Amino acid sequence: MERKKNYFAGPCVLPLEVLEEVKDEIVDYKGNGLSMIEASHRGGMFEEMYDDCLSLVREIYSVPSDYDVYFLGGGATLQFTMIPYNFLMKGKVANYSRTGTWSNKACDDAQLLSKELSFGKVTTYYDGSYNNFTSLPDPESVVPSDNAAYLYLCANETIHGLEWKDYPDTKDVPLIADMSSNFFSQPVPIEKFSMIYGGVQKNLGPAGATLVIMKKSMLDRRRKNVPAYLNYALHSKEKGLYNTPPVFSIWVVKLVLEWIKKNGGVEGMYERSLRTSGMIYDAIDYSDGFYTSPVDKKYRSRMNICFRIKGNDTELEKKFLEEAKKNGMLGLKGHRSVGGLRASLYNSLPDSDVEFLRDFMEEFKRKNS
Ligand code: PMP
Repeated sequence: MERKKNYFAGPCVLPLEVLEEVKDEIVDYKGNGLSMIEASHRGGMFEEMYDDCLSLVREIYSVPSDYDVYFLGGGATLQFTMIPYNFLMKGKVANYSRTGTWSNKACDDAQLLSKELSFGKVTTYYDGSYNNFTSLPDPESVVPSDNAAYLYLCANETIHGLEWKDYPDTKDVPLIADMSSNFFSQPVPIEKFSMIYGGVQKNLGPAGATLVIMKKSMLDRRRKNVPAYLNYALHSKEKGLYNTPPVFSIWVVKLVLEWIKKNGGVEGMYERSLRTSGMIYDAIDYSDGFYTSPVDKKYRSRMNICFRIKGNDTELEKKFLEEAKKNGMLGLKGHRSVGGLRASLYNSLPDSDVEFLRDFMEEFKRKNS
């Protein structure tokens, strides 16, 4: 079988050896005579695998012991509600930046709770709509409000191709980040954050699970009387097993984490991502204007590379996509809200597929200049 070259933004490419392992074990997990997805999530082989998975998260990301680590359902999107639901109170302010689709959605949900349920105030410390979300604020310029409940950011805007390279120093104000699309692609100074989270369906596994890493003391700041599934205190107590967890997704995440560990950990992923994204950004920058990237060079994402052809020539972009498809390349269309092209280069995309894309871009330019 010829595998496609997969540049989808998520769900997306997973390591082939992990897929093979899933295939081998889907019917009979390690000789137990049943599949992981047939087993109860209470005790036995699931809990053993789950504990191993949480330990791998701690080990690979160097998570300090005063942080909780667990998986939830509901996608990263549910966190947009859970965060303000738990931590934004009357008399407090939540500070958001609007840097693209995903932080906008998080901010919208917080504003809804603020307006409809009087949960406190929401302010924006940066709004990138003035330049179509092509840049980010300088982290040093970001100062939380005096009475801030937390300061929120999206570490990598998947649709707009923007990535924070450094983070604001928020001092005593909890810093919360959505890392869905650059999770486990670089070392992260966890101590700077009170909470990081992400849907796993980019660098970590199949859709279904959301990984939450939260400083335990964050719970001291929580609202009481939160409905069960929205309640971080309950999830902390139950280690994410309050209700049936997304078993399949978590199992594959565990296998992907083992793969990350074997391949140099997050340091290895980081080094590789600089090299591979550099290859495609070079193809753009040295194309004499044939390809352009709308994104501020300082904040270019290593994971999601947005680009255009010849000053937004949509016909030529269509041709690019058609020819890419004929060459077995999928997922290069920009998100419908921004148009253009986007290549997502997640951890497990083989180097050869990045080189293939670079060569294809150069050849396409040569033929269509
Ligand atoms: N945040 C970011 C940065 C994302 O890229 C996405 C999904 N692509 C989400 C949040 C929403 O994730 P989910 O679909 O798991 O709710």
